[in-house]
Parts: sequence; C-alpha cells; structure tokens
Amino acid sequence: AGELMSHASSALFQAKANGRRSVGWYVPPLKAAGRIRLKMLSGLHKAIERGEFELHYQACLDARAGTVIGVEALARWRHEGVFVPPLEFIALAEESGLIVQLGEWAIGEASRQMRQWTDAGLQVPRVSVNISTLHFGMQSLAESVRAAIRDHGLAPGMLEIELTESCMVRDFTATLGELHALKDLGVSLSLDDFGTGYSSLSYLTRLPIDKLKIDRSFVRLLGASADGEAIVRAIVALGQSLRLELVAEGVETAAQAKMLLDMGCVGIQGFLLATPVPAVHLPASITRARRRAASLAGGPARTGESPDGPDARAALSR
Ligand code: C2E
Ligand code: MG
Ligand code: MG
Repeated sequence: AGELMSHASSALFQAKANGRRSVGWYVPPLKAAGRIRLKMLSGLHKAIERGEFELHYQACLDARAGTVIGVEALARWRHEGVFVPPLEFIALAEESGLIVQLGEWAIGEASRQMRQWTDAGLQVPRVSVNISTLHFGMQSLAESVRAAIRDHGLAPGMLEIELTESCMVRDFTATLGELHALKDLGVSLSLDDFGTGYSSLSYLTRLPIDKLKIDRSFVRLLGASADGEAIVRAIVALGQSLRLELVAEGVETAAQAKMLLDMGCVGIQGFLLATPVPAVHLPASITRARRRAASLAGGPARTGESPDGPDARAALSR
C-alpha cells in the first residue's frame, strides 16, 4: 500500500506540474536510478536540520550606471561531501513537498544575511529568493516573508520574491491573491525565466509584478540568431511599455551585454559580471562586477560608492 501511494503521489505531482485538469501517469524509474533517487530523497529530508544547505549569491548590476541592483540567492546542497546541483534537488524537493520548507528556510537565511551586510555597510539594495510554484497559494508564504522582514529589521523593499510563469498556470486566482498579499507587505516581485513557460501575455497586465527576467535561453541567441535577437528585442519593448524593470539572465559575453544595453535592457546578470559566490566572498565579487560593468559602459567605475569599505570587509570576515 505504501508503494502504491508513493507511486500515486508521483503521478499526482506530474499532473499538477502540467496544469489544471490534466492526468499524470506513474512511470517506473530504472532500478538503479530509483535507488539513488530514494537515497537522495532521504538525505534531503535531513538536509535542512543538518544544515547542509547554503545560499550563494550572484550580483546583478545596472550595467549602464555601474551600480548593483541586487543579489540573487541560489540554494546549494552539500550532500555526503558531494555538491548536488539545484536542478537535481529542486525537482526532488518539489516532488516530496520539502520545497516549502526549503523556501521558508531560504527566506529567513537570505534576510539574516541581508541584515549582516547592511550592518557591515555593504551596499546591497535587495536580495531575491526563488520560490517554487508549489509554495504559492500557501498561507505560510506571506506569513514567513512578514516574519523574516520583521525579525531582521529589513525594509520590505530589500526583499524580492522570484516566481516562474508556471505559477500562473496552476491556479491564477489563488496566485494573484498571494501576489497581492506579498505586494501589500512591500516586497518586490519578479517573474523569472520569462518567455519559457506557458505565458498568457494578458497575465502580465494583471499581475502586480515589478520585474521581468529574460531567460538565458534567449540571451544565448544574441549575436547567433536573428530570430533570437528579435525575441529579446520584443521582450524588452514589452517590459518597457508595461514599465517593468528588466534583467537579462545568463549574460556571458561582452557582445551580448552590449546588444542588451543598446536595446535598453540595463539589468545584467551572468557570469560575465559575477558568478554565484558564498556570502563571505560577495564584497570582492561586487567590486569585480562593478569594474567589469564600467569597462562595458566604456568608463571607470563611479567613485564614492564603494560597496566594501575596510569596515565592511572586516565585519564580514568575522
Ligand atoms: P534561476 O532562478 O533562473 O537562477 C539562475 C541560474 O542560472 C543559476 O543556476 C545560476 O547559477 C545560473 N547562471 C547565472 N548566470 C549564468 C551564466 O552566465 N551562464 C550560465 N550558463 N548560467 C548562469 P543554479 O544556481 O544552478 O540554479 C538553477 C535553478 O534552480 C534556478 O534558476 C532556480 O530556478 C532554482 N533554484 C535555485 N535556488 C533555489 C531555491 O532556493 N529555491 C527554489 N525554489 N529554486 C531554486
Ligand atoms: Mg531566479
Ligand atoms: Mg531564471
């Protein structure tokens, strides 16, 4: 009976992931793969209490002004000495429902870190946390955000929640309610991986979102395909006319960044400027990123805006 129920819940997850009114079938995994998966699942259950998760932070810059817009918190799991990439454990965490616990932990941890940076004088205007589709529509989300902001004494605008388009597919009305509850708290909302989901453009006008993140699958096409370039240009125009902030994800080359700047998308996130790093390395990462952004824009980084003065560095290394 236990096995039957677990197979049924895996089929249910499939069905939910496909949207409303759909049917999911349980597909038996290969035996070995199934065993590894089970082992990982049981590890995942203990991971939060054992403190095996950490957040790494990737800076995102306004490449025209050379200033930091914010940092994105990305979860990392160190499991039995091996680093498990998010794309593997996020799916497992969603399947098992642990994603809600992970999301709550990430909100608290990112807020704690933000408090520490602010106290140390590091200028990070905002930290964004990725929240799974499955977490939306749960009362606890707005509650956890409210508690995190209060406990760590943050201004609400210092926290941003990133959601993906699939949130809208599941239950638009519930998601809309949740987004308004978050918005009422004053946190910023961004739509991640834009263009990859089942977006209905009319959602964009009805959602209280502040920012569109252009998915890296489109950014990668810049300079390589005229069609890709046309898509990015169209997304930028859409974002601008809806007065949304724009960030391009996965920017790896100066040529891509320059094309984006020419199109009017100044928010740049990607390995070109900064990779995700542990919190302690963020000040150095930001300094490097600002230098790189300045060379893109064709001038030196602005002075008087040092993100990591000696005080900040000393406090952060304690
Ligand atoms: P995402 O939110 O779209 O995050 C961006 C991903 O792109 C990150 O991968 C980041 O390391 C990677 N990236 C950034 N710049 C570049 C670049 O220039 N080139 C390339 N090739 N990649 C770049 P990561 O950390 O492996 O995370 C993958 C996804 O896992 C995230 O995509 C997000 O959807 C999910 N994820 C990560 N942390 C969390 C979390 O705490 N909660 C939830 N629910 N999902 C998370
Ligand atoms: Mg994200
Ligand atoms: Mg993304």
